[in-house]
Amino acid sequence: MCVMRKKIVAGNWKMNLTLAEANELLNELNQQENNKPTDVEIIIHPPFVYLAKFAEQLSKSTISLGAQNCSSYTSGAYTGEIAAQMIASCGAKYVIIGHSERRSMFGDTNTIIAEKINQALNAGLTPIFCCGELLSERENNEHFKIVEQQLNEGIFHLSEEQFSKCIIAYEPVWAIGTGKTATPQQAQEMHQFIRKQIASNYTEKSAQSCSILYGGSCNANNAQELFAQTDIDGGLIGGASLKANDFFSIANAF
Ligand code: PEP
Repeated sequence: MCVMRKKIVAGNWKMNLTLAEANELLNELNQQENNKPTDVEIIIHPPFVYLAKFAEQLSKSTISLGAQNCSSYTSGAYTGEIAAQMIASCGAKYVIIGHSERRSMFGDTNTIIAEKINQALNAGLTPIFCCGELLSERENNEHFKIVEQQLNEGIFHLSEEQFSKCIIAYEPVWAIGTGKTATPQQAQEMHQFIRKQIASNYTEKSAQSCSILYGGSCNANNAQELFAQTDIDGGLIGGASLKANDFFSIANAF
């Protein structure tokens, strides 16, 4: 079965950049927005507080906007939380859910992540669902089992129609922010595994249509080899998304 999948390069800015610095990066990105293949979608995920302003500044741009997280609750007395519908009302279209930093430092369990996925879809956002194993889990040869569990408990409760609105990002935790990238073979093997899980939980058509991004020290030097793999449809980029030139080099690596 041959289905054209969406190619995506998404930048996770994490908790970096003041408003002035963020604006400067946004302007640089906007200037370069046409410097990429037309079939590659670029998404940036700045901190929440910049979303509404950025949505205005990106209104004529092909660059899309996403958040880095959302609440598992809809609205109400949840001090400090940001609801999916608030993100949507700011003009963002995407939201990263289940990033390993949220899982390891902020208590995001698979159950909470499943709730967040529901919230995102109910608000009309496209979730970018992150999964990936720890170094110890890979060393114990448990990486497939762990990712399978994350998928089963975090996202496979969705109907096929709901699932078709989601993007998956495979991010081995040992590769995030460490400069240690998965080899193209390691990444391809896991992406293929994830696609097989989607096929057995839903259908082959769903599996072939789902964009699966790789994340973990992906940069301008290694993106080409990673994106050349059959089951890798783009990247979720941390550090290298904070420099406009590097980010656009990655977008041109397909
Ligand atoms: C990430 O945080 O999603 C990520 C992939 O970070 P980095 O590219 O810095 O490893």
